[in-house]
Amino acid sequence: MSDIIKSYHFETNIPGPHLLVFGAVHGNEPCGSQAAIQCIGDLEAGKLALTAGSLTIVPVCNPAALEKNQRFLEQNLNRVFKTHAEPAAYEEHLAHELTALVDQCDVLLDLHSQGSEGKPFVFQDYEDEKTEGFAQALGVGTILKGWPEMFASEADLNAGDTVGYAHWQGKTAVLVECGQHSDPQAKNVAYKTIMNSMIHLGMLDATGAADRIIPEIIRAQKIVTVPDEGWTLRQKWGHLQDVGKDQVLASNAAGQELKAPCDGVVILPKYAAKKGEEWFYLGIREVLKP
Ligand SMILES: [Zn+2]
Repeated sequence: MSDIIKSYHFETNIPGPHLLVFGAVHGNEPCGSQAAIQCIGDLEAGKLALTAGSLTIVPVCNPAALEKNQRFLEQNLNRVFKTHAEPAAYEEHLAHELTALVDQCDVLLDLHSQGSEGKPFVFQDYEDEKTEGFAQALGVGTILKGWPEMFASEADLNAGDTVGYAHWQGKTAVLVECGQHSDPQAKNVAYKTIMNSMIHLGMLDATGAADRIIPEIIRAQKIVTVPDEGWTLRQKWGHLQDVGKDQVLASNAAGQELKAPCDGVVILPKYAAKKGEEWFYLGIREVLKP
């Protein structure tokens, strides 16, 4: 199995960064693919023109999963994202090809969508200056930080995700959740994110660019699992919904309560979670440093 991945490359003869865009790392998240295909069409038709640097787009990172509209075929591609000397699972073959593309880029933009209802957001896992600037320039209203630290007890420097792999190769990388899987706006968010990436990197004429928005920063801090059978959420918390200190988040029939430890934000609730599974996460709001 080789060359399963189809990539599109555009370049100028003016020095500049090499941006790599991934769509459909997860096969049930089509928005990145749709936006990438639109972007490729616009470039090929001359509606868009790069002014510097180069651009590589992989509209579909997991073709077989996208075809089936499922997250993955054999392995979660965003958990096996590393080089594989002897790939076995389908996604290991994909990862092996895709990592070679990451090795050649300077900046990776990985476009996803989320299962939970709610606003689009950027997963910013690293807080170096380049990543800060890139994440804030994408035009996405919320940046979620602290995710790797929250899982620090299970931390693995080679956790097998796209952004982690890129980071350890010295690249700038973020993952954007462009909205809920079925949200028709997700494609537009993804497209705007690609455009804003190129403008930020000086690869596209910024004329007509939307006003810069100042994103809200949420720092993930706590994983909340379902404590036992019979526990229910006090209400159907929304993704990024604010909660107050001591507000009851969940309870059981015996009158036990789970309260918010501080003023904070509910992140990515999974309403169908069962005993012992991750239910939601709690984060706090941070003020953006000027
Ligand atoms: Zn995803």
